[in-house]
Parts: sequence; C-alpha cells; structure tokens
Amino acid sequence: MEIRLAADLQIDSIVDGLGIRTVIWTQGCKHKCPGCHNPETWSFSGGALVDVKTIAKEMDKLEGQTGVTFSGGDPFYQPAECAYLAKHAHKLNLNVWCYTGFTYEQLISLSKKNPDIMSFLKEIDVLVDGPFMQNLKSFDVKFRGSSNQRIIDVKKSLLEDKVIEIDLDTKAKKHNFGRYEHKLYI
Ligand code: SF4
Repeated sequence: MEIRLAADLQIDSIVDGLGIRTVIWTQGCKHKCPGCHNPETWSFSGGALVDVKTIAKEMDKLEGQTGVTFSGGDPFYQPAECAYLAKHAHKLNLNVWCYTGFTYEQLISLSKKNPDIMSFLKEIDVLVDGPFMQNLKSFDVKFRGSSNQRIIDVKKSLLEDKVIEIDLDTKAKKHNFGRYEHKLYI
C-alpha cells in the first residue's frame, strides 16, 4: 500500500501539536481554503508515492518524539494509508494528532460510506478540524490558524457521540503547561 506524501518525515516539530513531534505531510487537498499556507500540497498527482512499510521503518528509528502529526494536504483523502501509519505510531507509544479541513461532523457522516475514515479516526488522539478561514485568522489560538478550528479529543468524542473539545488556551494559562501536556497526551 502506497501513500502520496508532500515531503519527507519532519522530525522535532514543536508547532504541530503538544510536545516534540514528527510530521507526516500528506499530498492532496480539495478544500482550497483561501490563504492556505501549503497550496503546493493540493494536487493529487504531486509529491511522491511511498510504500507505507518504508515510512513505518523510518518511524521505528525515531528518538525523543512525543508523537506523530498528520498534516498536509488533507490526510483524510488517504484514510486507509494514514490509519496504517497511525496504528504503527501507537505501537511505538507515540500519540497521534491530525489536521484536517473537514469538520468532525463531516468526517462522521463520510465514514458511513467509507469505513476507512472511521478506522483512521479511531487511531487519532487529537483532531484539529475545519478549514482555514482567512477572516477568522488568529495568532491567539494555539496550534491553529483560525479561530473556527477546534482541538478535539477524538476518543472521548466517539465514546460520547458528540464533539469534546480540548481547551488548551485556557488550561495552558491555569496550569503548568508542561505538566498538563504530559498528564493528558503523553
Ligand atoms: S485544508 Fe489545509 S491544506 Fe487544504 S486548503 Fe485548507 S488550509 Fe490548505
């Protein structure tokens, strides 16, 4: 099984979720958000096709990483491939974040026709959802580009059948940020 990627694995990112993370940059996105920072990742024929087992072997060599973040592009255009890699991340005790231009509700609806979407969702710990909206662009919301985007606890949301958001902005102010992130997601 091959996945279309926009770039090599990016290690040691501190801006794509809590902790020190390895980013998997997927290629392909139909959302076409005005103001998107990565329009070169929109094409579904760009980037390069790579065997998921090759990526998994690269993940085996990672050191000092908190987790893996799927970004792009939109990873949900390749849900089976991403589910495989997310499952591998969990085997390595790495937590999984994912950025998507779909909303959580849209993904749940799409998953009824495409079970791979649910397989991938079940392997995600934290979902940052929704398109980038230029009129809501904000530098005050942590790990997001615009204030419509939500940081979602996927496991709790699936369990309770409603969106459960994680309020990192408020909690980061109230608690020692480092200790908080360790308790919740590491
Ligand atoms: S979903 Fe992300 S990659 Fe796709 S157009 Fe929007 S901002 Fe760009």
